[in-house]
Formats: sequence, structure tokens, C-alpha cells
Amino acid sequence: MIGDLYLHNSFSREKERFVPVHAPHVGLYVCGPTVYGDPHLGHARSAITFDLLFRYLKFSGYKVRYVRNITDVGHLEDDSDSGDDKLLKKARLEQLEPMEVAKYYTDRYHDMMDLLNVSRPSIEPNASGHIMEQIEMVQQILDAGYAYTVNGSVYFDLVKYNSQYRYGQLSGRVIEDLLSSTRDNLEAQDEKRNSIDFALWKKAQPEHIMRWKSPWSEGFPGWHLECSAMGRKYLGEKFDIHGGGMDLLFPHHESEIAQSQIANSAPPCQYWMHNNMITINGQKMGKSLGNSIMLEEFLKGNHPLLERAYTPMSIRFFILQAHYRSALDFSNTALQAAEKGLSRLLKAVDTLNTLKPSNVSSVDISSIEKDCFAALNDDLNSPVAISVLFDGVRIINSVNEGKETLKKEDIEALKKLYSIALFDILGLKKEEKTNSELTGYLIQFVLDLRQKAKANKDFATSDKIRDELNSLGITVKDTKDGTVWEM
Ligand code: ZN
Repeated sequence: MIGDLYLHNSFSREKERFVPVHAPHVGLYVCGPTVYGDPHLGHARSAITFDLLFRYLKFSGYKVRYVRNITDVGHLEDDSDSGDDKLLKKARLEQLEPMEVAKYYTDRYHDMMDLLNVSRPSIEPNASGHIMEQIEMVQQILDAGYAYTVNGSVYFDLVKYNSQYRYGQLSGRVIEDLLSSTRDNLEAQDEKRNSIDFALWKKAQPEHIMRWKSPWSEGFPGWHLECSAMGRKYLGEKFDIHGGGMDLLFPHHESEIAQSQIANSAPPCQYWMHNNMITINGQKMGKSLGNSIMLEEFLKGNHPLLERAYTPMSIRFFILQAHYRSALDFSNTALQAAEKGLSRLLKAVDTLNTLKPSNVSSVDISSIEKDCFAALNDDLNSPVAISVLFDGVRIINSVNEGKETLKKEDIEALKKLYSIALFDILGLKKEEKTNSELTGYLIQFVLDLRQKAKANKDFATSDKIRDELNSLGITVKDTKDGTVWEM
């Protein structure tokens, strides 16, 4: 399997054969969440996309070190230079320590990702725990002459950088256009030499709680810096794959490239991968538009745009049914279709386990495995892989109905394929019963035991079971149609 994988490299804009720098080891860095709010559907898409990559690389025989950071040093996503601190605002609003806010939302993120069956990364570094490494990198960029200090803050000189290395190659941005479009937007940027320069270090305002000592001022690192510094620390100066959402392409990843180019004399990675965004009923998702649906709301169904609750696995399957580079539009209809599709697939896996083998196979199943892996090797084309698995479902069902036959080896091959593709690689699983379903199941089980005791004329036991259930608030009534219970 090793050597067959082709990935779309955002940098070259081409599909390239994946060749790791130090095979069989692969270094993967993905920009993780900023922990000042609850995770929404967009978080799920990025996490599931790179979970698929992580799982598939491991399945293909690579040893993967997957680093995904936690941004707990606040910043404004669009303008990391304004010094505005979302985490800090939230802490003030909720009267908490900033670290309390960060811990709370980190836990929330983990809980939600666990429900979606997203594997935890190998290392999950916090920006706040790597201030030393970030200061060291700022110093290297200053020493190289590509940054300057103003009033205790340090800025990256993008115009100087552009004269040596072309800036904007990843996103296709051109520095002259960026300069002309930002020239009039000098509010809070008057310290900078050029409107597009970005902060490597910001001097903290008096009200700023999260601050660290540095050679330049008491302050905090610029947002782009943490990924460059932590990627280098855990994966080396040049690693294999850097991933993230498409919204991070510019300016975050462009800035990371510039920082690494100066500090390490090389861009940070071989391949850049970006997952596309999720729209809601055709509209961009955003808090201001009121259509940002949190993952917890999906699970409870308590958002005005949701017709009902959805299970974590339907959300995961819905996301995997689109290629990671395509836009994905949420609608209740689409999610319900995904839910139906998933249950059809899982039912077929159960059917597969009960199929009776014949002496000969009337259908050729060899193309299913071949086509499924060919799709995954083709830039992780999960929708095509899933459609191939659905072709298999049709065969499984017609064998079950006696219209086709499969010999033992073919049934075993299909069992192995579905177990690997569906559960190990796509990361789907049979959903566990909800608490109320489980309670109902357990009560029924206990009542069956009581029925057996009664049949054996062991009335002491049957009465004890009834009394115990009563004490738990469960009333048991024996009717002529059988025993009924109520909570
Ligand atoms: Zn990042």
C-alpha cells in the first residue's frame, strides 16, 4: 500500500504522489481550535478530515506523529495585530481566569470530538506552554533582519521578505494588491512600517491579563507564531504535511511560511492540505448570521434551524460523504439522507455476518476492495470509497435474498474489507444506545428474570424484584397480556 497515495498539495495546486521525508515516519501538523467557544460543525469537518488522513496513513503502514495545537493565547482571527483578545473578553464576561475558560472549552472540544470518534493526536501542545520557543523564533527573525521593534512590539517586515522570497504563493495573493487594499486601513496599525506587516510579539496593554516577559516587553506572541514554533519543536524544521481549514490559508499559513523561511531557511512542510468550509442552507456560517450551529445543538436538536436531533455518527458520515476539498452544504434533508445511508451500510454489515456460503460465487467482488482503496489513494476521495461500499451492499443483500451466491472466501474477504474501510479508516462505529434506551433494555431484562422466578414458583425472588424496582420509582403491573412497567 505504501507509495500509492496521491494528495492534493495546496502549495503546488497539484495532486502529488505522497513521499514522506523520513519514511516510514510521517510528521503531520494541523491547526487546532481556539478555545474560547463551543465547537461547531466547521470544527467537526476539519477534525474529521485530518482524522481520516491520520487513520489512512497508519493503515498504509506509516508511523505518524500527529501534532494538533490548542490556541489558548487569545487573538482576533482576522487581525492578530489589534491586540484584541477573545479569550480575555470571554474571561471578563464570565468572571473567570483566562486559563479556566481555555480548560473548559478544551474539555468541551475533546468531549465532542470523542463522540464523533475523532482520534486524539499524538501531541496536543498549548500555545501558552510554548512561550520560550516562540520568543526564540522572534529573536531569530530579528537577528536575520526581517523584523523590527516598535514600542515593545515586534513586527515581521513583509515588504522586505517579499523582495527576497515571493510572499503569497500558497494563497495566490500578490503583495502589491494587498498593500493597496490595506493602505487606508491604518487604524491601530500606525506602528507598522507596512500595512500588511504582522505582529510577532505584542506589548500587553495594562488590562491584558495573559502576559509574559520577553526581551522587548511584557506581552504575548502573535497568533501565527505558535504553529511555526511548535511544529518545529515536535516535527523538525521541515515536516511532511501541514493541514487546516481553508480559512487559514491566508494570512495564517502564509505567515507561517514566511516565519519558517527566515528562521529555518526553509518552508515548514512538503505538503499543505486544506479542508473546505461548511455552509448552512447555502449560506456562510457565522455567529452574526445566527446560523452557526454548535455540535451540542446537533446532538440535542435544539437550534431553530434543526428539525430534530442527529447522532454523532450521522454527522461524521455526512461530512465523509463529501470530498474534503469540496464545499459542503448542511440541510436537514442532507443530514437525514446521510443517516439513512449509514444505517443501510451498518445493516448490511450485520447481514454479511449471517450470510450462508455457497460452493461458488455468482458475482465477482474483487473490484470492490480495489476500487475502494483506489478512491482513498486518490486524495482521500471518501465519497467515492463510500459509493463503492454501497455497491457491495447491493451484492450482500441480493445474496441474502438468494438471488446471488458467494463462496466462503469471498464472504470472509468482504467482512475484512468492511471492517477495515468502514470502522478503521472511515472511523464509523455502531452507535451506542442512549441512556433511556439502555434503561428500557435493562428493566426488560430484570422483568424477564422475575418471570422465570415466578415460573419456578420462587415468589420470594419475584416479589423482591418488584419491590426493588418500586423503590427505584418503577411500577410493575401484571396484566393478562403480560407484565408492564412505568417509570
Ligand atoms: Zn496554525
